[in-house]
Formats: sequence, structure tokens, C-alpha cells
Amino acid sequence: MYLETDAIILRVVKTLKGRMMVLLFTEKYGKISAGAFQRVNKQNSGSALRPFAFGFYELRKSLGIFQINKSEIKNGFFSLGENLERFVNASFIMEFTEKLLPEEAPFPALFELLADFLRLIAHRTRGFDTLVVAYMLKSMQIWGVTPELDICSLCGATQPGSSGFSVKHGGIVCNNCTTESENIDILLKDELIYMVNFDIVKVMKYLIQHPLKHFEGLVLEDSMAKKLRMIFKEHAAYHLDISMPKTEYFLDTLT
Ligand SMILES: [Zn+2]
Repeated sequence: MYLETDAIILRVVKTLKGRMMVLLFTEKYGKISAGAFQRVNKQNSGSALRPFAFGFYELRKSLGIFQINKSEIKNGFFSLGENLERFVNASFIMEFTEKLLPEEAPFPALFELLADFLRLIAHRTRGFDTLVVAYMLKSMQIWGVTPELDICSLCGATQPGSSGFSVKHGGIVCNNCTTESENIDILLKDELIYMVNFDIVKVMKYLIQHPLKHFEGLVLEDSMAKKLRMIFKEHAAYHLDISMPKTEYFLDTLT
């Protein structure tokens, strides 16, 4: 059985006897693990088998295992390696995406989002966090776990103001619930609650309403981006049941 598809390389692990395992996010078939030879030949350019590479791949399945038969690089995103912060942030998104994806189930909207993310971060010189939080939020939108920002996630009040964000309840919490109402008991037990102001909710709405490409020149204030990153990380972990990438810990040491 042969498959032909565009794909982005999420991860590469070298194995024995000059072979490697390549984790691909394919456009047509979703996440696939495939074996490949490390040596470069006519069929396989080395750069198409590196992390972040975007290319065209021909895969063959035999005895239940995929092999990369042929690969053609379209964009290696080599500039990712030229700046440590850019590289670590892009690595974080690759790991995050890997965790979001089930095996061998197509996710074209997320594939397109990841391709856009790589194109944008490859040219960015600052504000990498902005792109990371935008990607996290847009990928959660694709999964159908967009944070609730229009009504209070506890009592359903339609003009909630914006005093808190409850990860467990999936959205903002109104002033009434955070002060006197009977819901205060629920909130006090909720360790995943963040104080948020009007600006942060406005930014979340802005990110939800526009495509990723729209944020090419957008750089959020550092403290705002950090807070959003923390909220989205918890929101994704809680609602999509994923553990956070290891890169996250490395990132903490950088900032
Ligand atoms: Zn409320």
C-alpha cells in the first residue's frame, strides 16, 4: 500500500543500523510513524527528514509498518535553528501538536495551522510568545474547546464583566460569582482560577476572531503573553487531557 502526501516532520529518532523513526504530521492521513534510512540518496534528500521540514512524502506500508520511500523538501525552515528562543518556541509547538493528534486520523485544519505557524515564526525576530499563544488558542478552537468569553462559565450571566477565568469551567467568571454569590464556594475550591482583566479578555477575543496569518506583525506585551500562555496551557491540559511538552520546562529556564 502506497500513500502520497504533504507532511511536516514532528520528530526524528535515530535507531540502529543507520535507520531512524520519523513522526510525520501528514496532510491527508494525520499523524504517522514511519521508518527511514539515515543515508541520503536520490529518493531521500536529508533535509526532508529533519524536524520542522515541510515536504512531499511517499510512504509504503508493509507488515503493518510504514516506510518512507521517497521524500522531497518544500521548505526546511532552516532559520529556526538560527535563534535559540525561536527554535525552542517552535519545538514547543511541535511537541504540543504531537500531543494533540491521535494516530492516523486526518486533521487538515490543524495541518494548515501548523504550516502557517512555521512560516510565520521562521521570519519573526521577537515576540515569539505571541505566536505561540495564538497557535495554542486556535488549535483549541479546532478541537472545539474554545474558552467561553461571552457569558459567565458558572452562572451564565450574559454581561459577565471579566474578573476571573476558571480553567475547570472553561471560561470567564462574572464579578458577581467571584464576590458574593453562592458560587463563591465552588470558586474557592477551584485551584485553576486566574484573575483576568478586560484587556486580556479583549485580546483572547481578538485572537479567536482572526486567522493566524493576521498576527504576522502582532507582538503582545510580555506579561500579557506569559499569562495567556499559562492559562492556555492549563486549559489545554484540562480539557484535552494532555500533558505539557518537556520543552516547556526548558523555556521557563530561558525567560
Ligand atoms: Zn457568574
